[in-house]
Amino acid sequence: MENEKYRILICEDDPSVNKLLSLTMELEGYAYSAVQTGKSALRELVAGRADLLILDLGLPDMDGSEIIRKVRSFSQLPIIVVSARGESQDKIQALDEGADDYLTKPFSTDELLARLRVSLRRASYTSGNSPSTQATEQFVNGNLRIAFPSNQVFVGQQEIHLTPIEYKLLCLLSENLDRVLTYNFIVKKIWGYHSDDFSDLRVFANTLRKKIGQDEGTSKMIQTHIGVGYRMIKVD
Ligand code: CA
Repeated sequence: MENEKYRILICEDDPSVNKLLSLTMELEGYAYSAVQTGKSALRELVAGRADLLILDLGLPDMDGSEIIRKVRSFSQLPIIVVSARGESQDKIQALDEGADDYLTKPFSTDELLARLRVSLRRASYTSGNSPSTQATEQFVNGNLRIAFPSNQVFVGQQEIHLTPIEYKLLCLLSENLDRVLTYNFIVKKIWGYHSDDFSDLRVFANTLRKKIGQDEGTSKMIQTHIGVGYRMIKVD
């Protein structure tokens, strides 16, 4: 079984959720270890004993964002954060610090496993195994193609005309394929400043989606995460 080559680190202080996550990993054949504090998670990660981290944001000893910041100083391993309802600000901060994805409790194990597969796949193609990173001249996802040297965008054979902001947004999403980008992060990258007003971004995201969404594959490519941000999903 292919899953056993991945080592999943679970960091969750609630014993029943920790148990549930562990059992799910065991049944799916993943190698895993489970800890209950931020410190023990960091110890495992520094020792290089994980390929992916499932991180509860409400831990007794450390703030979730602080853990992510520390991890990101030495590792790009995928991080999926798990948060309780009502911790949405924490969740957004965690994504801003470099978490890949999030789940809100209560979540189904199917949902968790789907996110896990996406993050592991993302990790494998960002480390250089994917055709989309080999050719830096263009980006291809399903029917969508971006030709970077000429700033051209195609859906199938047809060229799509984007405004400069729409184009920047599309490039940013494609560079972070399969990853949830927060409104904060996108606004800062595109406009270069911090703002709490995301209404312009929403407008550009909507027009971009309409322009590229001419066939079934591309219409669902850009996902909205309400109150959080956007993600471009990989289409086969
Ligand atoms: Ca907790």
